[in-house]
Amino acid sequence: MNSLPVFLRLQGRTCLVVGGGEVAARKVAQLLKAGGEVRVVAPELCPALQERASRRDIQHRAEEFSAEFLEGCVLAIAATDDRGINRRVSDLAQEHGIPVNVVDDPELCTFIMPSIVDRSPVVIAIASGGASPVLSRLLRARLETLIPSGFGRLAELMREFRARVREKFPVMKDRRRFWEQILEGPVAEMLYAGQDKVALAELEERLREEKPTVERHGEVYLVGGGPGDPDLLTFRALRLMQRAEVVLYDRLVAPAIVDLCRKDAERIYVGKERDRHAIPQEEVNEMLIKLAGEGKRVLRLKGGDPFIFGRGGEEIDRLSEAGIPFQVVPGITAAAGCAAYAGIPLTHRDYAHSCIFVTGHMKDGKLELNWDALVQPKQTIAVYMGVKGLDTLCEELIRHGMKKEMPAALVERGTTARQRVYVGTLATLPKLAGDHEIAAPSMAIIGEVVKLHEKLAWYDPAGGPRG
Ligand code: SAH
Repeated sequence: MNSLPVFLRLQGRTCLVVGGGEVAARKVAQLLKAGGEVRVVAPELCPALQERASRRDIQHRAEEFSAEFLEGCVLAIAATDDRGINRRVSDLAQEHGIPVNVVDDPELCTFIMPSIVDRSPVVIAIASGGASPVLSRLLRARLETLIPSGFGRLAELMREFRARVREKFPVMKDRRRFWEQILEGPVAEMLYAGQDKVALAELEERLREEKPTVERHGEVYLVGGGPGDPDLLTFRALRLMQRAEVVLYDRLVAPAIVDLCRKDAERIYVGKERDRHAIPQEEVNEMLIKLAGEGKRVLRLKGGDPFIFGRGGEEIDRLSEAGIPFQVVPGITAAAGCAAYAGIPLTHRDYAHSCIFVTGHMKDGKLELNWDALVQPKQTIAVYMGVKGLDTLCEELIRHGMKKEMPAALVERGTTARQRVYVGTLATLPKLAGDHEIAAPSMAIIGEVVKLHEKLAWYDPAGGPRG
């Protein structure tokens, strides 16, 4: 180890920053965030620092640096672009025994400013010993995605309960076991998901139990896996995918996404084929309750967003009745994903002021849609599950007054490496689908915005079939 990481308390203490540019401004911001009093010595200030000076967030001395400014300081940072001045700051600070950092000049530093992941009160500092600041920043970005933003709140909650837990479990081993189980269980997860009150109540409940061994409580994560490209998962989705011990997934969830679940998780396929329900919805609902009832962490992974034509509502309805903790993680819905990857903005100031999502799913050979609501000026229609009913859909829209020439697109397997996009009009769309043997999953986008595809299409994965 080439240096010792320590955490400095700066509250009420003065820190010196020499330099008035943007680099200095960034250092000032960090010092202020940590509660320090900041003295800035620089003949001139950049706009960001000028603003801070006018708000009296910092004490500004519009002078050249001299030794007197070091007086009473607990640390010094030199951030000028003059190496001579930086060296003087470094020499004098070291003479006075004040820790000093010179930006981008490790030789002149007695301490390094780390990259920081801030989940206050938990703070993670990363340094590469001056070898590569880029490496530290990369590591920081990884940690940022890995550690839930609610982590700090969890730490606060632990602080609040520390004394009570100590009283209840005077033996350290018991205490540790209790906390470990709380951190691994629903209390932590609910806090991350913003269910603070439930988390608190659950913790109180656990504290009332006699033994430090908390009975494992199951929970369900209803997660949207997005339209296909694994990069479109949210941080939270990925984290819960890595946490769950059982995964129930649909046909729509791309294999590349299921692959990102924990390697040892049990995977259960509950997909449905059209007209042939592999597992009835009721049974899926009951499976979730049963598995969570066994104390398992259950992931219900759905394509797109769970609340958009995803029956997510029905599944958590039963969970809520059964008193099982759950959370819902939104995903990128097919309409948003397909539109983005096909270069078709769903709204546009010139062409569409609203967008409507409908399902073209046929019931007894009929499409039951509010046609008048669909045939509106400056509106985009995104049609889910529409391949089979496409003829009827286009016919009915025309019959209800939409012009035959209305631009329309078909997006098959949107956002994946095999995405295909075909553009035509309301009149030609069914034939287009037939000619190119468009298969599920695919969706239709109808409206003037489709015209923009020609200019805005950008996604063209090598190896994918050309549209
Ligand atoms: N909950 C999902 C939708 C489920 S309905 C969501 O929010 O996206 C299933 C329909 O979604 C499919 O029949 C198809 O119309 C559409 N769909 C899902 N993924 C798609 C994809 N990658 N490309 C095109 N359409 C898709």
